[in-house]
Amino acid sequence: MLDFLGNLKRTHYCGALRASDAGRDATVMGWVHRRRDLGNLLFLDVRDRSGIVQVVFNKETQPEAHAKAEQARSESVVAVEGTVTRREKANPELATGEIDLMATKLHILNNAKTPPFPIEDEISASEETRLRYRYLDLRRPRPHRNLALRHKILLEMRKVMDEMGFIEVETPMLTRSTPEGARDYLVPSRVHHGKFYALPQSPQIFKQILMIGGLDRYFQIVKCFRDEDLRADRQPEFTQLDVEMSFPRQEDIFSVIENVMVRACAVAGIEVHAPFPHMLYKDAIRKYGSDKPDMRFGMELHEVTDCFPAEARQKLQIGGSVFALAAPGAASYSRKQLDEVPEKAKGLGARGVYFVKVAAEGITSTVEKLIGAENVKKLAEACGAKTGDLVVAVSAKEEIKGAEAAALVAGQLRLQLGEALGQIDKTQWKFLWLTGFPLFEWSETDKTWVSAQHPFTGIVDEDLEKLETAPWEVRSKGYDLVLNGVELGSGSIRIHRQDIQERLFKALGLTEEQLRRRFGFFLDALTYGTPPHGGIALGLDRVTMLLAGEKSIREVIAFAKTTAAVDLMAESPSEVDPSQLDDLGISVKPYVLQSECGCGGRWRVFSERMSQGAQQSPGAATCPESPQYFLPLVGISNEGRWWVEHLDAGSRDWKRVLER
Ligand SMILES: [Zn+2]
Repeated sequence: MLDFLGNLKRTHYCGALRASDAGRDATVMGWVHRRRDLGNLLFLDVRDRSGIVQVVFNKETQPEAHAKAEQARSESVVAVEGTVTRREKANPELATGEIDLMATKLHILNNAKTPPFPIEDEISASEETRLRYRYLDLRRPRPHRNLALRHKILLEMRKVMDEMGFIEVETPMLTRSTPEGARDYLVPSRVHHGKFYALPQSPQIFKQILMIGGLDRYFQIVKCFRDEDLRADRQPEFTQLDVEMSFPRQEDIFSVIENVMVRACAVAGIEVHAPFPHMLYKDAIRKYGSDKPDMRFGMELHEVTDCFPAEARQKLQIGGSVFALAAPGAASYSRKQLDEVPEKAKGLGARGVYFVKVAAEGITSTVEKLIGAENVKKLAEACGAKTGDLVVAVSAKEEIKGAEAAALVAGQLRLQLGEALGQIDKTQWKFLWLTGFPLFEWSETDKTWVSAQHPFTGIVDEDLEKLETAPWEVRSKGYDLVLNGVELGSGSIRIHRQDIQERLFKALGLTEEQLRRRFGFFLDALTYGTPPHGGIALGLDRVTMLLAGEKSIREVIAFAKTTAAVDLMAESPSEVDPSQLDDLGISVKPYVLQSECGCGGRWRVFSERMSQGAQQSPGAATCPESPQYFLPLVGISNEGRWWVEHLDAGSRDWKRVLER
């Protein structure tokens, strides 16, 4: 029989009771964390979001409460009335360890099934199980701490922005598709047949229009959506601190964000100081081989192309430049450890890896015969290598237009070796502003220059004339904020003149017609007196992750999706009722899987449903030309209709071979 809460009122949170409460009556409510039955005495640890208190049931003095406690199970929901008493022997492990709650009455408010994992701070359950049973996972102290910290950080940010005269303005979630690099999430319109809204990838155009609208200082803590390819550190929806201001100098935006970050760090008990240092993009690439350098350690890169004479370059097949770094103390690396370095480097895109060992007995190198002792010495000196150091030089497999490919590989090695050698001081918080980005970057897939940021990024005034003649030399007014090697956000001073905006769009190869269709309203708005303006957006999931000391953003998001963009608890995305699709005038096409057949023909599998996880495969299809070839049917679900077609290599005809 369960009890009703009725008029019962909680007087204390479990974790709040202290020795100073001894002698007082208290009523606590929460979950049974643990139960220990010692016969005459029965102990229940009761847990709520504030912590745990030990409740004692005495068979002799409170037989009724004791009898009831025998029915309580792990994760039962209970209310306990009792008296706070001092313990004879305190438990230093618990914040409430100096007291017990001597129960006079127990109310069992609800039962619980046995949870799939224990509700403890450290658990071994897989992330998949934790996300599927997120409501149980959230009862653990660590997710509580992370969500509470996230709340405090967001609250503090709102306070700072308000103090600086910024107004929080909400922008639409149902908006139009605009090109910001990633794919949009589309929402079909029922009323306007065949038309779609898009969920915002960012409020970029709206915040710029707010500046045209004279709002002057805008911010918003806002959800954004990107249908991007899956990566470990990405979520399809994410939260950002979005900021825009009118008439700003770059340093004005920097100081706004520095205020925000100093205060947000303070909330997490971390002391940092403004102003943050600045670095040019090209220096970051040449010195750290990264556009988000981790400044918590040295091991800077040095270009050592000069140390490799023409003949050696030919033998070693070095096309571009060579970059090197000194790994402190790694001269004593074992054969096995040394062998691992080129293995890693080659996976990162290195053509060659060359070592110089600086030992007490002298300097030795794997390429001494090829480049000569003098060059080996020069190489070690260029990297500032000390006795005991190992100099690692790398050349790149492929050249990247407008980038130092060897530096990028060396930069990855710097991170891996720095971590392995214990060079990264994990107590440090190193912010960095990156500026001087190129406006365009070369796209290998499209074989053209594309916007390095988004197409509203301002152009350095003196580079404007090169926009049509030498676009690769044009620098942008963009900037990034980096913390400990993680990019927290990026922004720019924007283009506020319609003539320049149109020139940029044309440089990007957009036709007049495409321009009107995609940005018509925005180009019109620019013609009505747009003030100079600029802003930035910070990724708050990442900020919170770093300040909470977590390694994954999923640990600081209440209901995170998996890397496959699936909510395992709510089971979304999901199929919908056919009548909903009818209302929207939408029919779902079967998806198609194509592959080669051993006979020289091709396979094509059409399927209405994809299989979700480990489902039984409906078998295999046999080649109609040569029966020794067959196609195993994986990834399709028997719940929907599916069929398999085979292309005859000779007649080029598709033939249906199997259906269901
Ligand atoms: Zn075949």
